Amino acid sequence: MIKDDIKSNILTTTIESAVNWGRKNSLWPMPFGTACCGIEFMAVLAARTDISRFGAEAIRFSPRQSDLLIVAGRISIKMMPVLIRIYEQMPEPKWVVSMGACASTGGVFDTYSVIQGVDQFIPVDVYVPGCPPRPEGVVESLLKIQELVEKEKFSDYAVSDSK
Ligand code: SF4
Repeated sequence: MIKDDIKSNILTTTIESAVNWGRKNSLWPMPFGTACCGIEFMAVLAARTDISRFGAEAIRFSPRQSDLLIVAGRISIKMMPVLIRIYEQMPEPKWVVSMGACASTGGVFDTYSVIQGVDQFIPVDVYVPGCPPRPEGVVESLLKIQELVEKEKFSDYAVSDSK
């Protein structure tokens, strides 16, 4: 009898899995919307798609508390330093979604003033195709990020003793 109680009431896990589970279900996105994709991203927050279902609705434009940068829209050469600064202000661990053709490749703006892919300057974890991507595509990217978060290792962030 006691043994049965124990079986149904005790859960064993590792600290790493528990932390990753918490992180993956409480992502804090920092949107960097510069064009139409930024408007499309707003639809992701609305009732029909509603990313709060995935615990990722805390959007307060505060890089120091964010762990997911969503680049939504074309990025000009003038804006890239700002984007890099925001990325650097975000604490580790952090992830990046490149939303839409413009952020990922420059899209149709093959000009000297538009960055032809933000991954030339900051690491991108997930690309969302489309011009503009559908909100469902952004939700899919969120699920992909959650998969990555689940596989995070504490050891990747270990601070070395050697100076
Ligand atoms: S990918 Fe399309 S919708 Fe998105 S910013 Fe570029 S032109 Fe606009």
